[in-house]
Amino acid sequence: MIDLHCHLDLFPNPGKVANEAAARGMYILSVTTTPSAWSGTNRLLRDYKKIKPALGLHPEIAHERLHELELFDSLLCKTDYVGEIGLDGSTRFKKTSKSQKKAFDHILRQCENAGGKILSIHSRNAAASVIDSLETRNGSGLPVLHWFSGNSTDLKRAIRIGCWFSVGPKMLSSKKGCSIIKEIPIDRIITETDSPFTREGNLPLYPWSVEQAEIQLSRLWGIPHREVRAILLTNFRNLVAFKAATYPSYSY
Ligand code: MN
Repeated sequence: MIDLHCHLDLFPNPGKVANEAAARGMYILSVTTTPSAWSGTNRLLRDYKKIKPALGLHPEIAHERLHELELFDSLLCKTDYVGEIGLDGSTRFKKTSKSQKKAFDHILRQCENAGGKILSIHSRNAAASVIDSLETRNGSGLPVLHWFSGNSTDLKRAIRIGCWFSVGPKMLSSKKGCSIIKEIPIDRIITETDSPFTREGNLPLYPWSVEQAEIQLSRLWGIPHREVRAILLTNFRNLVAFKAATYPSYSY
């Protein structure tokens, strides 16, 4: 199983969650929300072969952490994974849109200069602007739009410019989420949970809750669960091969 977007460092007991996920043989990309969170997360996950931390600056807090862009730049050469980054255009965060854009564009430019990274991207209420930025910096790497909720024009554009999509149980529980996923080529989809921020009813999701997403995809696509799991693993290997082609030393 694969969770391409969760926040292991924000669980009350990250080591325990990482151990349980590792025991299940999971592949995990643990995104961070600030550059200063990366080193500790990297240390925590050092011994897990299939769990990698990503270097990020979340759009919701970008305005408070612009001074950490320097740290971001200095850490970027240590990782092939960048996230959580992006833009948030919802009412609560609209007022920080300038800072968000400054951080996002800076990060994309740095990723382009570094030869491209795998990017986990937040685009809530800002899909068109995110895609504009990605189009401008088309050497920034392989963008994976996490929990995409844009309209069908944005979706078509995103697919056209080569975006991938990570989808979780929450997105797959909504009508709108399912109608988006139906339009995405099967070979561009990866599972995620966005845990620990997501809940199903009263229960918090964990990385292994991606199994729910697999079952939901199986229903949506009309493909047996076991085959869905195989497809997702192939997709994951293709995603990773994007970097392997650039860096022969790559190891997931
Ligand atoms: Mn997230």
